[in-house]
Amino acid sequence: MPRFGIQTTFVDGTDIAQWAEAFTRPAATVFLETPSNPTLDIIDLKTVCRLAHGAGARVVVDNVFASPVLQKPLDLGADVVVYSTTKHIDGQGRCLGGAVLANDRAWIDDKLAMFLRHTGPALSPFNAWVLLKSLETLDLRMERHCVNALQVATFLESRPEITKVLYPGLASHPQHALAMRQMTKGGSVLAFTIGEGHEAAYRLLNALRLIDISNNLGDAKSLITHPATTTHQRLSAAEKAQQGITDTLVRLSVGLEDVQDVIDDLTQSLEKL
Ligand SMILES: *Cc1c(COP(=O)(O)O)cnc(C)c1O
Repeated sequence: MPRFGIQTTFVDGTDIAQWAEAFTRPAATVFLETPSNPTLDIIDLKTVCRLAHGAGARVVVDNVFASPVLQKPLDLGADVVVYSTTKHIDGQGRCLGGAVLANDRAWIDDKLAMFLRHTGPALSPFNAWVLLKSLETLDLRMERHCVNALQVATFLESRPEITKVLYPGLASHPQHALAMRQMTKGGSVLAFTIGEGHEAAYRLLNALRLIDISNNLGDAKSLITHPATTTHQRLSAAEKAQQGITDTLVRLSVGLEDVQDVIDDLTQSLEKL
């Protein structure tokens, strides 16, 4: 962004004092995601939106992890919400897409529509049709994703090999109360740590039989990944350490399978460690 004259300040989104301090300087736009990828941090949307608006800034929320079924940032004060519809909204590994939502009709018509017209990110009619059909089942799928993910998270918490489980729907999540205020359920994605270094994490992933290794999430199939060497590999060691993306961290997107099959797969893999 610097070549467009845009300066960026990074804050720990969970620390309201850091937000308040950042807003003592001029700010135009806030960009955040909650729950965050891959550590499932929760950012207090109402408070951050209030602080941002006090400083004259617009708030853009990446709501991919929660989906529109579990969390409605526009109702909590956000100005713009963005989705990769490739994730839960399609949710079945069929098509790529994205969506931008906002309350401000004039901004949509004058700024967003013009930007889209000149830069051309348009869905093909077929992808648009697939996504519209997907919306008809999104609510049902999210319900099943959340039931399954909570059971898998509870199972992982009970296993001695797993050193930490991060899932907003678990009472042990450091921001569980906040998560349950601004989301209706915990979502489909969880993360956990195992062993020391990457060895145990790699062995666990490689011995799975049902769960696929993939960077995608929010899919009908359960998908697992090692963020430090895939999605977040380009961060420096210091950035990874600061963000809690250790070599021991594994991210699991829980799908729509019979949850016992997912738990059995994790069990057989853990028993081979
Ligand atoms: C996948 C993802 C994106 C990027 O979506 P693309 O469709 O790959 O552009 C952005 N934010 C989150 C949280 C995601 O999971």
